[in-house]
Amino acid sequence: MTIIADGKLLAEKIYSNIKAKVDKLDRKPMLAVIITNDNEAGKIYVRNKQRACEKTGIQSKTIEFDADVSENTLINKIQDLNNDKNVDAILVQLPLPNHIDSEKILNAISPDKDADGFHYINAGKMFIGQMPKTIACTPKGIIRLLDEYKIQISGLNAVVIGRSNIVGKPISQLLLQRNATVTTCHSKTKNLEYYTKNADLIVCAIGKPKFLTGNMVKDGVIIIDVGITRLDTGKLSGDVDFESVASKASLITPVPGGVGPMTVAMLIQNTLDLSIQYSE
Ligand code: NAP
Repeated sequence: MTIIADGKLLAEKIYSNIKAKVDKLDRKPMLAVIITNDNEAGKIYVRNKQRACEKTGIQSKTIEFDADVSENTLINKIQDLNNDKNVDAILVQLPLPNHIDSEKILNAISPDKDADGFHYINAGKMFIGQMPKTIACTPKGIIRLLDEYKIQISGLNAVVIGRSNIVGKPISQLLLQRNATVTTCHSKTKNLEYYTKNADLIVCAIGKPKFLTGNMVKDGVIIIDVGITRLDTGKLSGDVDFESVASKASLITPVPGGVGPMTVAMLIQNTLDLSIQYSE
């Protein structure tokens, strides 16, 4: 039997736990979100994040800039937020306009207020096995989901397809920390099927609809589909061809309703955790 992992349900459970904790706090945590007004897809994500904040009693504020905003203006705003005692967590919604160096902007956020866990100090600490202030939300959400379904990660042959800084690399690292044997594949990997056919667990994060098909995986495989692409039909598609892969998988995450809701839930968890660390 194939388990279809319900990220939406688990996210709701996480929100209830967070709300119970926030209700007991005298000062409610505050998440500040920066977005540029050319980022239409990002605005939808930001609205989802605001809704999740409302559900849990976390405060949020969104600061919107014109698309021609300068790097200096963004950095100055981030420094104000870094120094603002009422702000616990800061998120810059990507992508930023082309003339902006995103790395420079992300690294201007204090690592103590780094809601997304993208700052090089937090990312670097994770890679050397130290406890970062925050871990990137999508990889953190994937591990939380696997734990919820009691998947024993230790000893699994795990294949991660994609090596971005926000998903592929950090999930490879987290799986390695949990004692999986990890192979990270990318666009230059030769004979990808050789790896996927031998995998016990596959995380697919490339942004190519229905890329991973049933003939590329073995029976009983665990599939985490990170991809989100809006098709011309208006529907969302993952990177996995759900029908052909689900019939062979022991567990699979759907799109939508799998990894996406977990990512937002982990952002809210990171905000709460930062507010508690901050007030200690
Ligand atoms: P990204 O930065 O564009 O990276 C894509 C990765 O896929 C790259 O490492 C690339 O390899 C690799 N790749 C591309 N084509 C490939 C192929 N044919 N075979 C093997 N590898 C290939 O993407 P991302 O930011 O990680 O996002 C990936 C997908 O996940 C997107 O659909 C995005 O919308 C989605 N996403 C979802 C969530 C969520 O919450 N569910 C969160 C973040 C992202 P190279 O490095 O060699 O170019």
